[in-house]
Amino acid sequence: MVAAMDIQVTKIERSKLNDLSLENLPFGKYFTDHMLEADYEAGKWTNVEIKPYQPLLLEPSLAAIHYGQAIFEGIKAYRDDAGCAFVFRPYDNLKRFNLSARRMNMPEVPEEIFIEGMRRLIELDKSWIPVQKDHSLYIRPFMFSNDGVLGVRPSEKYKFLIILSPAGPYFPKPMKILVEEKYTRAAPGGVGFAKNAGNYGGSMLAATEAQQQGYDQVLWTDAFEHKWLQEVGMMNVFFIIDGVAITPSLEEGTILNGVTRNSVITILKEMGIKVEERRISIDEVIAAHKAGRLQEVFGTGTAATIAMIQELKYKDYVMKFNESNWALSGKVKKVMNDIREGKTADVHGWMLAV
Ligand SMILES: *Cc1c(COP(=O)(O)O)cnc(C)c1O
Repeated sequence: MVAAMDIQVTKIERSKLNDLSLENLPFGKYFTDHMLEADYEAGKWTNVEIKPYQPLLLEPSLAAIHYGQAIFEGIKAYRDDAGCAFVFRPYDNLKRFNLSARRMNMPEVPEEIFIEGMRRLIELDKSWIPVQKDHSLYIRPFMFSNDGVLGVRPSEKYKFLIILSPAGPYFPKPMKILVEEKYTRAAPGGVGFAKNAGNYGGSMLAATEAQQQGYDQVLWTDAFEHKWLQEVGMMNVFFIIDGVAITPSLEEGTILNGVTRNSVITILKEMGIKVEERRISIDEVIAAHKAGRLQEVFGTGTAATIAMIQELKYKDYVMKFNESNWALSGKVKKVMNDIREGKTADVHGWMLAV
């Protein structure tokens, strides 16, 4: 445990919970009573504060808006039957957050602020963690450049915040996916492995155009040949072929190193499933489908855990799946959720007690 740091706490007078039921809330729309805010100035972090959730006052010349130094994380917390709160793998998110920060030429956030600040904030807003099945508290740490100067250079000032949002069950309906051949999400040397805001901004048009054709999202391919598979929308992707789980490898730097991806790999291996992290092309997927060897296709991410894919289209070739027959993805999702909701022993040490 990190030494408790100096965090100034200002509490709300009356909880918004008095007027809100936590059941079946839409994702990311309601926020808890408090937030954490910290400033980076003159080379160090200061003003670490937990205070009532409130709007920010920002300069119109804010560098983050003009030049896009902005990164974030997504984490979930749960409350067990005894009322104890637990956060799922937050140290992995801290590590990735600081990897994103380095790539975007931003300062790293120390553990005392990211983890200890999050812990103190959740402790304060613990009654906001829904206890209903498949509900959770979504944690959103983020950082942006805070200089009010239009000169193009890395900022001198940054703001780090954590906000919390109670979330209802997310039962994604099996997705229809189009293999993307026009737009590119990430190329080697770029920022695909960082969780920066611009990756999301740059991908929205592709998703919108896919939706105009009746699809939910795109399966991203490499920038050069548009055939090596990367991610599905904003999730990592897995293919089960002949009982082997295959997911694109991280080496090229074009893929986000998902905490869910990593957890799913661990669980699959423990189930005795062989996992391969390597390059996989759409041609290989289609050949497997034609031979009847492609068994399951799914995306992984914190919001959905596992999102099954019911249809995958590449050029004129359409692959349809009957995901209700799938053996693996549902099982992995249940193992993950049972660990997170405290229903099975946390043998991996993934849950941090608040
Ligand atoms: C956040 C994210 C993921 C999923 O990461 P998790 O840690 O599993 O939530 C996958 N791909 C992209 C592009 C992401 O931004």
